[in-house]
Amino acid sequence: MRIEQRPEFQIHLQNLKSKEQLYLETIFSVANGHFGVRDSNPLQGNNPNYRGTPGLFINGFYDYYEIQYGEKYTGYPVNDQVINRLCDPRYIRIKIGDEDSSVNYFKVDTVDKNMDMQTGMLHEIFSVTTPQGKIFNLIVESFASVEAANVYGIKYGIVPINFDDEVEVIKVHDYVNQKTSSTVSDVRVNKSQGHLQLDFLDGYEQPSYLLTTYKSQQGSLLTFNGSGPKLTYFKDENNHWGYHATYFGKKGTQKEFEFLFSIGAVYPLVNAQMYADQYLVKLNEDIKNTSFKSELMASAQVWQTFWLHSDVEIDGDPEVQLSLRFNLFELYQSAGKDSHTSIPAKGLSGNGYGGHYFWDTEIFMLPFFIYTNPELAKKILMYRYETLSVAEQQSTQFGFKGGAMYPWRSINGVEASAYWPAGTAQIHIDADIAYAIEQYYEVTGDDDFLDNYGYEIIVETARFYMEWGNFAKINDQRRFVINRVTGPDEYSAVVDNNYFTNKMVKFNFRMVQKYAKRFENTELSKRLGLSPKELNRIKEAADLMYLPFDNEKKVKLQDQNFKQMNKLDLSKIDNNDFPLLLHYHPLMLYRSQVNKQADTILADVLFPSGYSEDELMRDFDFYEPITTHDSSLSQAVFAIAAARVGKQDQSYNFFSQAIQTDILNSHHNTANGIHAGSLGAAWEGVFYGFAGVINNAGTFTMNPKLPERWNSVKFRIFLYDSEYIFTIYEHEVHVSLLSGTGTTITIAGAKCDLDNESPEQVVKY
Ligand code: BGC
Repeated sequence: MRIEQRPEFQIHLQNLKSKEQLYLETIFSVANGHFGVRDSNPLQGNNPNYRGTPGLFINGFYDYYEIQYGEKYTGYPVNDQVINRLCDPRYIRIKIGDEDSSVNYFKVDTVDKNMDMQTGMLHEIFSVTTPQGKIFNLIVESFASVEAANVYGIKYGIVPINFDDEVEVIKVHDYVNQKTSSTVSDVRVNKSQGHLQLDFLDGYEQPSYLLTTYKSQQGSLLTFNGSGPKLTYFKDENNHWGYHATYFGKKGTQKEFEFLFSIGAVYPLVNAQMYADQYLVKLNEDIKNTSFKSELMASAQVWQTFWLHSDVEIDGDPEVQLSLRFNLFELYQSAGKDSHTSIPAKGLSGNGYGGHYFWDTEIFMLPFFIYTNPELAKKILMYRYETLSVAEQQSTQFGFKGGAMYPWRSINGVEASAYWPAGTAQIHIDADIAYAIEQYYEVTGDDDFLDNYGYEIIVETARFYMEWGNFAKINDQRRFVINRVTGPDEYSAVVDNNYFTNKMVKFNFRMVQKYAKRFENTELSKRLGLSPKELNRIKEAADLMYLPFDNEKKVKLQDQNFKQMNKLDLSKIDNNDFPLLLHYHPLMLYRSQVNKQADTILADVLFPSGYSEDELMRDFDFYEPITTHDSSLSQAVFAIAAARVGKQDQSYNFFSQAIQTDILNSHHNTANGIHAGSLGAAWEGVFYGFAGVINNAGTFTMNPKLPERWNSVKFRIFLYDSEYIFTIYEHEVHVSLLSGTGTTITIAGAKCDLDNESPEQVVKY
């Protein structure tokens, strides 16, 4: 298979505005959902000027780190979890004559970097100068296979430029806790690291390591093999096994060495030690009798399939097009694909936020997968089912009789948030998961998922809210209230009746009711002990849910007391003082009307039906001026809201900023990892915003409003059992049924019955 390089799929160094080292490490990281490798300087480690944070991250491989509190109250999480920074598989040691890159200072200049998103291959050229002035080119190609989850490939080409001399190539990885030289002081950056050990396992014909953590008691295995001229398995001066080759390098002549790594799953420590042999045999199989090229090709083919179903083609806006492709590429690179892991907020491109999963997955990233890769969406949701028992324990430890309390941030399901007012208090996470389950079911009709996993989560999360909330009188009316919680907006904390939370919980309750009949007298409802009495109470709570509203301004209120606070005048704040969280005491923000991110507006976006355009417009006009968008999850939401109320220019501006969050490094912290939630939210901007999709209770409608500069946008989606392709022009939508039996879709008010007899329709609007 030969894949022709198309310029519109290339992330090329010369086209990036920033050339900052740490930023590039993130942007050019390669990952496949199981592991990710930052784009380090491959000869790093010896260069005094190198300010890198290199490393390999395995999704879900973490260690505990004891949280140090000034004042530790009952129930605070004891441990943080931090994704392990493992050895950097890009690292190579090169000796030229008597100079050694691991001892002497070799100057490494980046000549070129290019990520081909069609194949997932990163191609780089470095120019290296030794202290004695010998210059050679180092050409590096690497990829993380999306076909074989364990496989990472890297190939080095060495070309002497101004010398003929002895060259020695050494590839030994005998360390863990890769050294870094990052010096940032930002609460969002994780500086802690796990306590790891690396054991070399003897008796294999290639370097094989057992990686184990002390506190979390996890293990993983790693092995690699190599090929190239004169390359042999050897023991270095420290008695560590690896590969080396010595040859006489000639000016202008390139020698190539390629290595395939096999990076194992994460096992409980006992397993990993006991079954090391067995696991290694399996890992070896992945990289034996194969080559860099054939593994790359197999992986590239999977990327082709990904693009076939998931690409969004925009005609008329090349910059936005490239950023959007980058976002989709990163989402697929980041998504855990094994049903045991989810998508870290920073993908696998860095250890920002400790490698934790947040609500970002369910609300901002999952819709893209639900519509373009439902099988993968199911796997991502399965992570929540896998950790349901932990969430149930958490609820009882918290003091409730039952229910499930999902963590605000975590890897293994246990709450890791050290700052509860903006962390654990965000109890909307449960309802976010329930919302995602319903969305997945609506789009796929996957009964297996709902029956065996989804409904149980919906019930247990609802139970949690029934315990947290209570019935109370407000203005003489009986209501269900949910007090002392934090909504998505982290500049308001521990409030009463956060609109977003209450609206989401109401939906969660409604879902219990909606499916109650289906599960009547089933094994599941018996096991859950769901009685008619409990169902009635849940129904009553949903019916009476209090949703704060300002009757004078006629806007939804972010929380019950939001109206009483003074507005923070954002125009008076110096640009350098954003994000506010790094410059203000949290209480200074909590006591003002100021939003870090969309909160009530997000509720409007997630529940688009039932409000007039005027109402939505009022909400938008109220919240937009007080929102800083200090969270990267905010702008895309505002873009959708603006599109829905016909504020086309504003919508496009928000969207184009959101979509370029990482490519333009607009939050100045892409160095710590990509903003995976924001990348997913940008896709939502196209889908729910410009294409105007509303998918509700079995009806799929589309009311497109394209940005002026776009000639068209084209994408595919799966809906129920069918796949469709849409091309939206300024005044016309073309839709074709590609597979499956079809359904009715409403486009700009016109009903289109698509089936195998009439698989294509054109609607004018
Ligand atoms: C946002 C949260 C988000 C987290 C991880 C924070 O800045 O306020 O909503 O979940 O980042 O992306």
